[in-house]
Amino acid sequence: MNSKAIPKTPRSRFDTHEVFNQSPPYENVDLFESDLPLRDAVNANGAVGEVAALSTFGRHWGSAEMFALGRQANENPPKLHAFDAKGFRRDRVEFHPAYDRFMAESVAAGLHASTWTAACRHAPPPSEVARAARFYMAAQIETGHLCPITMTRAALAALAAEPAVAAKVVPKALTRSYDLAFAPFWEKSGMTLGMGMTENQGGTDVRANATSATPTGDGYSIVGSKWFMSAPMSDAFLVLAQAPSGLTCFLMPRFRPDGSVNALRFQRLKDKLGNRSNASSEVEFTDAFAWRVGEEGAGIRTILHMVQLTRLDCAVASAGLMRMALAQAVHHCRYRTVFGKPLYDQPMMRTVLADLALELEGAVALVMRLCRALDLAAEDPREAAYARLITPAAKFLVCKIAPGFIFEAMECLGGNGYVEESILPRLYREAPVNAIWEGSGNVMCLDVLRALKGEEERALFRTLAHDAGVADREPNEHASSEAFARVTVERLARLASAAALRASAPQSVADQFVRTRVAGSHGALYGAQDIDPAGVEVLLQRALPQG
Ligand SMILES: Cc1cc2nc3c(=O)[nH]c(=O)nc-3n(C[C@H](O)[C@H](O)[C@H](O)COP(=O)(O)OP(=O)(O)OC[C@H]3O[C@@H](n4cnc5c(N)ncnc54)[C@H](O)[C@@H]3O)c2cc1C
Repeated sequence: MNSKAIPKTPRSRFDTHEVFNQSPPYENVDLFESDLPLRDAVNANGAVGEVAALSTFGRHWGSAEMFALGRQANENPPKLHAFDAKGFRRDRVEFHPAYDRFMAESVAAGLHASTWTAACRHAPPPSEVARAARFYMAAQIETGHLCPITMTRAALAALAAEPAVAAKVVPKALTRSYDLAFAPFWEKSGMTLGMGMTENQGGTDVRANATSATPTGDGYSIVGSKWFMSAPMSDAFLVLAQAPSGLTCFLMPRFRPDGSVNALRFQRLKDKLGNRSNASSEVEFTDAFAWRVGEEGAGIRTILHMVQLTRLDCAVASAGLMRMALAQAVHHCRYRTVFGKPLYDQPMMRTVLADLALELEGAVALVMRLCRALDLAAEDPREAAYARLITPAAKFLVCKIAPGFIFEAMECLGGNGYVEESILPRLYREAPVNAIWEGSGNVMCLDVLRALKGEEERALFRTLAHDAGVADREPNEHASSEAFARVTVERLARLASAAALRASAPQSVADQFVRTRVAGSHGALYGAQDIDPAGVEVLLQRALPQG
């Protein structure tokens, strides 16, 4: 960290006070090198060869410039220009240049595409783990732009159901070029993809979609609306609509094949709690052109391929938000003195910080292990079962704990943490959306219950308990009931975290995690745990090594 580089204004005799006992800005850090749990998880999950490149990425994204851009992108939310000055329909959304810079950076780094081969097959291991490590670091600096980034990479999984459409899109989506031009995607050097499933009457129950799709020969005419459609300046969107044979998945480009602007009418942008750099629109399709993706009536099955990947990214991004909050808290407490002693040395504060660090250890180990399963799923049915079962469980747990975690970290900075420039308020506002979109908490639990009907998935419960070093039974009928599902799913995710920690973290860390979160139940608050002083020191040095 380069705190000496900050120029100070010279004191004059009119200054009323000296500023002291404040921490220097947390910036110009290597987001990879300074994060031992991440490094361990990357190594344990087959990505040792990526370490040098990840450190280069971590240094760049942790620069003061990137922190400043993150602030600018969120202080200047996008604007909808539904009409121009003369009343002509335009349906354009204008983003701040800082947002576009993040898009260009993430696309150049392959966050939107690096897990795919040119033939749109899963790239060989450790592509998933290596990308997730970058995604996790990017999320610490600016999360809003990661919405179109994750949708682009995930949409390609659904497009595989329609090779003719995939052939048009994949070569453009895989380039490392972010092309801002408002032009047909086939004329651009790169493209991004969005998704529209949620309608006013229901987002979870997409079978209630009322948007209609009528075959027109070369494609379909789509008429209807979507209540949430994020990243509206994407070049094409996967949408669900009712075709003659039922709910079907479509690809709707911003321009028709003849080059004219397609009939997407943006009604307004949502005024959101967080995620402010990113736009989320309400949109009407007034005879919009679209290509079918997959069979008519197979819409949900087709789009589920996409959703599994976006759910994984929700968990990775939430862990990233938690990471930035924790790093800010540990950093500040090392500098801030209260009652003659740094906060970092006050026993109760150390327990709070260590308990937060332990929570994040579990989350990082879990999401990286899950990425490893995706890396191996094509070759190994047990890994495929792991990915199927643990994706919704990890999304449920990690996204749910993030807001409370970030609040606790915010409080470690006292009043400074509540103030916008500290970045903590932005992280805090950003966190809940990952739990809500791409299937809200209860919906994730229902999905786990569905997955637990599989033999391989049920057996995994036992294997995870064994790997975690605890005795646990497969869920009985009661535990598999909807009413009890949150308990079952949290248990599953905790077991999976503990098992992942056993494979990646020092034994003392895994032991503390099992003791505080698996063998016994963790209280509602952080820091109410009895972590021995040696364990506290290990956790804090791993969270942010002291130079
Ligand atoms: C910022 C933002 C951006 C978004 N962007 C997009 C986008 O780009 N594309 C898109 O398609 N959607 C988008 N969404 C929509 C999002 O995916 C939905 O809001 C979400 O899926 C939930 O749907 P809903 O809002 O209709 O809530 P509902 O479906 O009404 O659900 C409400 C609550 O009920 C719970 N619930 C549902 N069923 C059950 C059950 N059987 N048992 C118990 N509880 C249940 C849910 O978990 C949820 O907590 C976005 C949302 C937000 C907030």
